[in-house]
Amino acid sequence: MKVILAQPRGFCAGVVRAIEIVERALQKYGPPVYVRHEIVHNKHVVERLKAKGARFVEDLSEVPADAVTIFSAHGVSKKVEREAEVRQLPVLDATCPLVTKVHNQGKRYVAQGRVLVLIGHAGHPEVIGTMGQIPAPVVLVQNENDVDALMISTDTPVAYITQTTLSVDDTKGIIAALQRRFPDIVGPETRDICYATQNRQSAVRELSLLVDVLLVVGANNSSNSNRLREIGAEAGISSYLLADGSELRPEWVRDAEVVGITAGASAPEVLVEDVIGALRRLGPVEVSTLPGREENIEFRLPAELAAV
Ligand code: SF4
Repeated sequence: MKVILAQPRGFCAGVVRAIEIVERALQKYGPPVYVRHEIVHNKHVVERLKAKGARFVEDLSEVPADAVTIFSAHGVSKKVEREAEVRQLPVLDATCPLVTKVHNQGKRYVAQGRVLVLIGHAGHPEVIGTMGQIPAPVVLVQNENDVDALMISTDTPVAYITQTTLSVDDTKGIIAALQRRFPDIVGPETRDICYATQNRQSAVRELSLLVDVLLVVGANNSSNSNRLREIGAEAGISSYLLADGSELRPEWVRDAEVVGITAGASAPEVLVEDVIGALRRLGPVEVSTLPGREENIEFRLPAELAAV
């Protein structure tokens, strides 16, 4: 069996930074440190950090007084920030800088007097955080039907922002529908979208042309991993999302000559290796990697952790 790996795949700069913040906080302040929500959507990452002394909570009320508190890469609402301030918790913010950039874009549009539309998935922590950062009501749209159903008159000044794990291609149709309804709508430049989401999706499109089956390594609550699987399925390839090698089902690859593998932005490379190991247990495997696009983006750590 031939195995082709997508390039790029796996960790993005925002995830690397978020994990590094937890690890350095553990080194500097000692365990336990408290992390609000999964630092990134991957159980293996979370379990590894738990073993080092990180404690994961869903609500700040679970954090004891004075305990070091880390906000996850997905970002948080103003309400959560205020609650931490009132309780004087020492906070380290692991919100991805690209998520913060979306928050700032939204605030700018609202300050210009525009009604803000957010393109994203209801209930995703990033969407909850972004909506809670904007000091005005935000209208969430998930698809083109939602745009048709908007109760906003066409002459209203409107702006849009998008969830970072949606790419230019994902949002194209929704943005076009918004532009048809609100001719003077404004939104961010396309170069402002998350580079990692776009690059991983482009790589998987290329990979789908070469393989019989696509395996996406990632967690089932990872928005970008799910999207990678959908892209394979849209290209007509049998596509499966799996957390690690233990979830590989032999029947998925039984008739495949070429298997493609990619990984969501929160999935570590060790899990890709684990899946390759599981394929090897079924028979001989020859692994190659697509040339793909090189990424060299790094995000700065919070000042208090830079020298740890
Ligand atoms: S996928 Fe993009 S926005 Fe999300 S953490 Fe990674 S770099 Fe940041």
